[in-house]
Amino acid sequence: MTRIAIVGAGLSGLVLAIGLRDFASVTVFEKSRGIGGRLSTRYQDPFSFDHGAQYFTAKTPEFRKFLEPHIASRLVQDWQPKLVTLEHGIQSQAATATEGFYAAVPRMTSLCKSLAEDIDVQHQREIKRIERVDGVWHLTTSDGIDAGIFDWVISTAPALQTQRLLPKNFSGQDKLKDSRMNGCFTLMLGYENAPTIEWDAAKIVGSPIGWIAVNSSKPGRPMGFSLVVQTSNKWAEAHLEVSAQSPGDGAWD
Ligand SMILES: Cc1cc2nc3c(=O)[nH]c(=O)nc-3n(C[C@H](O)[C@H](O)[C@H](O)COP(=O)(O)OP(=O)(O)OC[C@H]3O[C@@H](n4cnc5c(N)ncnc54)[C@H](O)[C@@H]3O)c2cc1C
Repeated sequence: MTRIAIVGAGLSGLVLAIGLRDFASVTVFEKSRGIGGRLSTRYQDPFSFDHGAQYFTAKTPEFRKFLEPHIASRLVQDWQPKLVTLEHGIQSQAATATEGFYAAVPRMTSLCKSLAEDIDVQHQREIKRIERVDGVWHLTTSDGIDAGIFDWVISTAPALQTQRLLPKNFSGQDKLKDSRMNGCFTLMLGYENAPTIEWDAAKIVGSPIGWIAVNSSKPGRPMGFSLVVQTSNKWAEAHLEVSAQSPGDGAWD
């Protein structure tokens, strides 16, 4: 049987693994302890925080079809936040109930956990080297362990990480090198006493902050009132290298 290695147990890696498992022997390598990649959640009783993807929409028929069984099993549910836009701290329009936003329940990682149930996922295995020897691919982990021999390798790691991982003569090297990622810092706040906020999510304009969500307004979350605050990509890019200890100059921009 064809042997396929997939690097990364985020949504892409797991969906690929499910699609390929009837035709090949599939092994997924994941560098972290958990799975889900950027569909990520942290929790500390009684709070949970989806600090990566906030929600997803289903725009293509293929993705809608993929979601159908998960919606039927209530693993994926509608999130209809009252959404506002805040411009320089002022609400610029009335809250609208949003439709077509989905969230995995009880946390964003739950979807990937469910997808991974029958997949061979090797946790805490960071693939560091991929070499072609005698017509097959040899994979080695970051601690020098031989991770096996495969006929095909698929990397779902972010583009620049994939670029460093794949052989120098790979034809897609230039495209990968030209790709860009947008940074984002996330602040997670849990409240003993819930503040009065009349919306569930806010898009912020003209501020270092780009998005605030009342995470506890998503379906199936624990009771503790939790906020997820994400910076704009522009602000994050400008501050990526600033140390957390840096006193800064007091200015936001
Ligand atoms: C802050 C933030 C907010 C977002 N908001 C939204 C949103 O609201 N709606 C939306 O639809 N999308 C959103 N996204 C985007 C969405 O999260 C991603 O597009 C999606 O989760 C990417 O999935 P993926 O499987 O392609 O990659 P990833 O989730 O990045 O998965 C890649 C996996 O590969 C692993 N990996 C990397 N290198 C190696 C290696 N060498 N060896 C082994 N494993 C490795 C990583 O640990 C990771 O688990 C957001 C992303 C972020 C960061």
